[in-house]
Amino acid sequence: MIPLSQDHLGEIRSHALDEYPDECCGIVIGFAESPEGDILFQCTNIQNKLHKLDPETYPRDAKTAYNMESMEVVKIFSQAESKGMVIKTFYHSHPEHDAYFSDEDKRMALLDGEPTYPEASYLVVSVYSKEIKDEAWFAWDSQTRSFEKQNH
Ligand SMILES: [Zn+2]
Repeated sequence: MIPLSQDHLGEIRSHALDEYPDECCGIVIGFAESPEGDILFQCTNIQNKLHKLDPETYPRDAKTAYNMESMEVVKIFSQAESKGMVIKTFYHSHPEHDAYFSDEDKRMALLDGEPTYPEASYLVVSVYSKEIKDEAWFAWDSQTRSFEKQNH
């Protein structure tokens, strides 16, 4: 079962096309049991800003990377907490790249080698020539201790 409503999946695809050729990013919060009541947040990809300010630390621009605006993320997390919701999905797009979970994606999902959100799913949407080509889900597997592709 896809852990998202069809509406939200559609919104994520549109977001990926809107931001193309840059990466889009966002978060879905909700109740663990069902997609009913899920709330989707399109986040601002501040990677271009970071790259411009400090290209040494941020060698990539938004075409091949994303960074969520941290105040937006804090607000989303506190909203989830106040509603008794969990972080269900982190999504981002890969313009002109396939829907894989890159080393950089893994690095961002880990803190000291442990998953920051072990229950969350990660959705990667592949966009080529401003068309959705593919999408894939990844989640932390405590057996293999890595992010594995999910079959939905
Ligand atoms: Zn990625």
